[in-house]
Amino acid sequence: MTPDHAADPGGRTAASTGDMSPEEFRREAHRLADWIAEYFAHPEQFPVLAQVHPGEIASALPSAAPEQGDDMSAIVADFERVLVPGLTHWNHPGFFAYFAITASGPGILADLLSSALNQQAMLWRTSPAATELEAVALGWLRQMLGLPEAFEGVIYDTASVSSLHALAAAREAAVVGVREHGLSGRDMPPVSVYCSEHAHSSIDKAVILLGLGHASLRKIPADAEFRLRPDALAAAIADDRRAGRLPVAVVATVGTTSTTSVDPVPEIADICERERMWLHVDAAYGGAAALVPGWEWVMRGCDRADSVVVNPHKWLFVPFDLSAFYCRRMDVIRAAFSLVPEYLRTTDPGDVKNLMDTGIQLGRRFRSLKLWMVLRYFGQEGMRARIAEHMRLARQFAAWVDADPAFERMAPVPMSVVCFRAVPPGPGHTEAELERLNATLLDRVNASGEVFLSHTKLGGRYVLRLAVGNLRTTGQHLRRAWDLLKASAEELASGRA
Ligand code: PLP
Repeated sequence: MTPDHAADPGGRTAASTGDMSPEEFRREAHRLADWIAEYFAHPEQFPVLAQVHPGEIASALPSAAPEQGDDMSAIVADFERVLVPGLTHWNHPGFFAYFAITASGPGILADLLSSALNQQAMLWRTSPAATELEAVALGWLRQMLGLPEAFEGVIYDTASVSSLHALAAAREAAVVGVREHGLSGRDMPPVSVYCSEHAHSSIDKAVILLGLGHASLRKIPADAEFRLRPDALAAAIADDRRAGRLPVAVVATVGTTSTTSVDPVPEIADICERERMWLHVDAAYGGAAALVPGWEWVMRGCDRADSVVVNPHKWLFVPFDLSAFYCRRMDVIRAAFSLVPEYLRTTDPGDVKNLMDTGIQLGRRFRSLKLWMVLRYFGQEGMRARIAEHMRLARQFAAWVDADPAFERMAPVPMSVVCFRAVPPGPGHTEAELERLNATLLDRVNASGEVFLSHTKLGGRYVLRLAVGNLRTTGQHLRRAWDLLKASAEELASGRA
């Protein structure tokens, strides 16, 4: 097939379709493929943390779109000149901040295909392949996580959105007529939702957005290892019932954001069953650990949850974004969200699943393609080996911290995150002094461009976090991070900084 070409004002050959010609697409795609391959061949060529000032990138770009189209060479040149310096490199092996992640090769190629195919899987008929592959790929992952078949899966963009849907379902199940009449102006008790003091802020946002009110979220105290205390949960529910409130849901976390602690899900499930409350498990990060032999325990009790979220874009090497939401009661999700206007009605058989019925979003990208390609490319064994290696590296780093009197470990290391801080020699440092010292230490090592770590607070104490999760991170990168931390801590302690 030879497309009809015509020269456009920019001197390019545009196909009569109005789009880039196939020849130009092939040329530019190869050029970008080469750029990406080079980028991954030398992932340390750029500083991991962008070294630009706020506003610098925007001010280097024109304030309006060009009147005449630009040439791809000029666009790519500006991408390299203006945008690349403003990238923080999540693919850098020295990325140890937040939760370290990886855009793996098979996932990137799947995203390319997904964009090219432009599938919009709102209805089964608008993309039978995307609809059915989503069920298949989520079924594979469900088995790897040790969840039973009773859990139906659906893909959302992020864990925040997965948990929002979980709590919307909990509200739907607990508050009669909420879909029709809402919450306001009704003669009904105020509702309560429970999570640990270490739960992710997405849970706060979900209760706010669902109209339950931020005050409805009860933050249950954690034990010394940062796990939700079931006795405190049971007491809070009893208090609320006595006060005439309606407890509707508990969110347990498998792999909390600060320390990766694992809430005692079996005990929490007992309470939820007794109290007839929805149990949602946020395993956005920690679920991946369950793939590794010996770590199945992290998902213990999750089979009794009503819903579970695991994020393949966190620790399963799928490029951002892809959140896997599993629900034992997807009928409740559908009751909350399904709404079919005439223009979307079909004559497809009744047992056909239309993804638009399982959430707020109508249009759905072909996200399952990247989950499927990543799982196929690495295989279960490959996934397990990579996650196990990250946990080994984290334990190695924790051992260095433990062996060094100038540092102190601040939490157990059940997965691949180490919480620690520098403690200069000599007695009597106040918490404020330690916070200042460690915040300065963090800024200094991050300014090196070689590593990027982040921080949190535990029990009011400022703590550094090192998270291992990038495929390219090796023992050498970890050693470099440790050497930088040690050298900077020594300089600061001796007043040389
Ligand atoms: N849950 C936990 C435990 C997290 O750590 C995070 C983010 O780090 C989230 C939820 C939110 O993830 P997302 O960015 O996919 O919304």
